[in-house]
Amino acid sequence: MEIRKVGVVGCGLMGSGIVEVVAKAGYPVVVREINDDLLNKGLARIRGSMSKAVERGKLSPADMDAAWSRIVGTTDMYAFDECDLVIEAAIENLDLKKEIFAQLDQITPPHAILASNTSSLSITVMAAATKRPDKVLGMHFFNPVPVMPLLEMVRALLTSDETFSTAREFGEKKLGKTVVIAKDNPGFIVNLLLVPFLLDAVRALELGVATKEDIDTGVKLGLNHPMGPLTLLDFVGLDTTLFIADAMFEEFKDPKYAAPPLLRRMVTAGLYGRKSGRGFYDYSK
Ligand code: NAD
Repeated sequence: MEIRKVGVVGCGLMGSGIVEVVAKAGYPVVVREINDDLLNKGLARIRGSMSKAVERGKLSPADMDAAWSRIVGTTDMYAFDECDLVIEAAIENLDLKKEIFAQLDQITPPHAILASNTSSLSITVMAAATKRPDKVLGMHFFNPVPVMPLLEMVRALLTSDETFSTAREFGEKKLGKTVVIAKDNPGFIVNLLLVPFLLDAVRALELGVATKEDIDTGVKLGLNHPMGPLTLLDFVGLDTTLFIADAMFEEFKDPKYAAPPLLRRMVTAGLYGRKSGRGFYDYSK
């Protein structure tokens, strides 16, 4: 099956990055948000990211214009009616994702592949909300999508070989990502390892082991990570990390996935990280 047109559900941090790489790879892409305000914010994020790539000499102004002209923003789910592949990147909530997959199943052509960018939720459960579970799989991109080379691909119990190989070829050959393959197990490979580490960094701060700056510097220089865990949490979004931790705890009932109270309090207070202007650090300026 040939992929000619792509849809993306959600134009937040991840959706906007996915739209950007798909448009730059030469595909027409339609992206749906829940209202005009969020759509315009998402589109502005894409434009800003492409402009930065032009400034850095990584994208020519002509290629930026061409990529931009391939993107259509909408608040209408029915705009996915001609897509061959739809990638869902709405918030990390299983009930919402099940509802989105049921809608996509009604709207998209019968041959279309439906993928989720979920970090931790079950692809098999999303597939069960459709009448085409053989055409559902996980395509888990990393943030920021235009920069991060990894694509974690997840086979659900009923994903067909054809669906998997079509999506894999698209991710590898068309988007230029390096693919790793994981079972439909909460957190797949990367978040299974990363989430307990991030939660432990918050616990270390809660316990007063060190200041946030020293926790981050310790990990950066001691483990040679590009950024410390609390800075990374601000990048990922504290709200998204909390959704992921809750989903993994619900599945495993293992205390290592239990969200520390400080993380929950910060999310309740709206301190989501970079995207809200403040998380562990202040980005308001
Ligand atoms: P985000 O909050 O930045 O964006 C989610 C967007 O989805 C919001 O703008 C919201 O309005 C929109 N949305 C909600 N319901 C919708 C619907 N029915 N239709 C269309 N849009 C809808 O979150 P994010 O960080 O982009 O995360 C999105 C998904 O990607 C989550 O499943 C998350 O686990 C996963 N993910 C996140 C990261 C990360 O680093 N943040 C990395 C990999 C995967």
